[in-house]
Amino acid sequence: MKNNKNLSNWLNEMGLTHPLVIAGPCSAESEEQVLNIAHQLKKTDATVFRAGIWKPRTRPGNFEGVGEIGLKWLKKVKEKTGMLTATEVANPTHVELALRNDIDILWIGARSTVSPFIVQEIAEALKGTHKIVLVKNPVNPDLALWLGAVERLHTSNIKKLGVIHRGFSTYEKTKYRNNPEWQIPIDLQNQFPDLPLILDPSHIAGRRDIIFDLCQTALDLNFDGLMIETHHEPDNAWSDAKQQITPAILKKITGDLRIRKEEGDAIEYQIKLDSLRSRINSIDHKLTEILGKRMQIADEIGTLKKNSNVAILQNKRWNEILEKMVLEGKDNKLSEEFVLKIYKAIHQESINHQKRIVNK
Ligand code: PEP
Ligand code: MN
Repeated sequence: MKNNKNLSNWLNEMGLTHPLVIAGPCSAESEEQVLNIAHQLKKTDATVFRAGIWKPRTRPGNFEGVGEIGLKWLKKVKEKTGMLTATEVANPTHVELALRNDIDILWIGARSTVSPFIVQEIAEALKGTHKIVLVKNPVNPDLALWLGAVERLHTSNIKKLGVIHRGFSTYEKTKYRNNPEWQIPIDLQNQFPDLPLILDPSHIAGRRDIIFDLCQTALDLNFDGLMIETHHEPDNAWSDAKQQITPAILKKITGDLRIRKEEGDAIEYQIKLDSLRSRINSIDHKLTEILGKRMQIADEIGTLKKNSNVAILQNKRWNEILEKMVLEGKDNKLSEEFVLKIYKAIHQESINHQKRIVNK
């Protein structure tokens, strides 16, 4: 594909495929595992092999990566398959070892991007490197922090820079492991259209069944590549087992993705339309989810009213809500008529929910 984005960057210059597909296990586990997966990936659209060598684990006591020896295995992957190799670096020692072992792409993980001190140390260790450096978004939804990390690397004279969108952590449980918050990468792309933007659907999803949809959304939003965790036996993976897919599934996913190859007015229109529609879909998804949550609270109020033998309809409270929402609606350029219609429908649904509980 390339579409309305002018790729005057290193992706183009290096003749890399578009979209760039980076795949491989969450963690390197053994030489056999790494080589086995790499040979299977050779038959897919993946051109870069990823594997974590040093793993940032939330709780101690879990598998924390094989360490330096894994870099030799990645070197072997390159020799045997010709794929480029990629791994995460989280401190200057990692950088030195990765560079010494000729790793092609070094990425900074989400837990490192949050720390300007760590990013600065990594940037200094990488000074002037010709290797590709990719920056994952910080775990918290903060565009300035993400861009700050990119700036620190840019200041270190690193030319082949890119970013990876891996979603943002929330305390609330949703269908995602990390919320995509698409508006953040969209804003980033608007400010820096030439900075390659790669989606990591694996860490956003935390599961296998929504990886395809995430990838399609990203392509519709003009992302430049995908980084997908891939394992020969996902269920037995030593880390992130639930989200990894087999090379065969990866092949199916990238084969089914709608990727446009031509330029032209009609295509441009379609791409822009798809991009806007993806944003609408993501907002609709949130709207429905939030309405569902509102109704769960209405259910709890229903139980409370039932236990205290109080009537469901409380006119005073209802009129207060309406007044407040009409005012907030104005601030958001929504007509009074529309706000009243929506809130009456929401209120009715709340009453139905509470009725069901009270009359149970
Ligand atoms: C990973 O890519 O395996 C990883 C640890 O990712 P993140 O930094 O996005 O959590
Ligand atoms: Mn992982």
